[in-house]
Amino acid sequence: MSELNNNENNDILLSVKDLYVEYTSDKKIIHAVNGVSFDIKKGKTLGLVGETGAGKTTIAKSIIGILPVPPAKLKSGEIYYEGQEITKLNEKEMSHIQGEEISMIFQDPMTALNPTMTVGAQIADGIALHENLSKVDSIKKAKQMLELVGIPSERFTEYPHQFSGGMKQRVVIAIALACNPQLILADEPTTALDVTIQAQVLELIKDLQKKQETSMLLITHDLGVVAQTCDDVAVIYAGEIVESGDKYEIFDHPSHPYTLGLFGSLPNMVKKGEKRLHPIAGMMPNPSNLPGGCKFHPRCPYATEECTQDIPELKNIGGTHACRCIHAGNLVRTDETNEETKEG
Ligand code: SF4
Repeated sequence: MSELNNNENNDILLSVKDLYVEYTSDKKIIHAVNGVSFDIKKGKTLGLVGETGAGKTTIAKSIIGILPVPPAKLKSGEIYYEGQEITKLNEKEMSHIQGEEISMIFQDPMTALNPTMTVGAQIADGIALHENLSKVDSIKKAKQMLELVGIPSERFTEYPHQFSGGMKQRVVIAIALACNPQLILADEPTTALDVTIQAQVLELIKDLQKKQETSMLLITHDLGVVAQTCDDVAVIYAGEIVESGDKYEIFDHPSHPYTLGLFGSLPNMVKKGEKRLHPIAGMMPNPSNLPGGCKFHPRCPYATEECTQDIPELKNIGGTHACRCIHAGNLVRTDETNEETKEG
């Protein structure tokens, strides 16, 4: 994966270029997305990883055209789907892309489903709208979709409250996949589920993705989910991509201090005697008052004076691997603990 995009590359389904999105709240400008660029290849999954508030969901909403405008504003940037710039499309043109070409799996199945409609009707409605099928055929396909996600079609006439959390998320996935979209935007699709169900739902998404050759943008804060599901990874912090590359480059050679911090926050099941976690100190900066220089410098254990002034660029550090850090490859701890030196 590269920040440098090329629309003429036939392998690329979606290309986001230099996207800036702001919100206005209490007369303050909230800088949610600050110059994000990435590509999603056909049939592949890109994991967008970061903490809550990093701008991940805003990016997904920008792609599928459901940003709440106002208070949100797509300030600048372009989004190409199959080579077509989609940010300039009107509501009617965009409605053909939503659901048919690009669909979204929302984080919380409780709020994604309508409690007053049967699950079957909710799946069939989308099919009837986008696929121009008769009512009978829409119902038939909706029942097939239920079976596909592991729910007996006899439960077509039941309501969301009659399903468990994991089953509800399966219904949400059935709705998202019903019209064979080319791209799924999955926003923390397993976060609201029990750990045991999470693995099942991830397997299901992967399976269906393979069968339908769908591409996916998987939004998550969970590196375990990324390891299981993604081909490429983009780590996002304060509305900027700070590190990107294919999964193996990121997992084998994490290079940005924030990515190192994310890995350090995970329990180490391999290294004996390594019981301490090393969480990232501090909090995500206020997006209405972002720090100057490198946005990560107030939390970075490797920060130098230079980092408070200079704005780092996302630079290629080998292969498809890119990192936004002035000291990438030559990190020396500068915090009081001075525990380690990392040369990457
Ligand atoms: Fe840390 Fe400086 Fe690199 Fe930013 S540029 S991540 S503050 S070392």
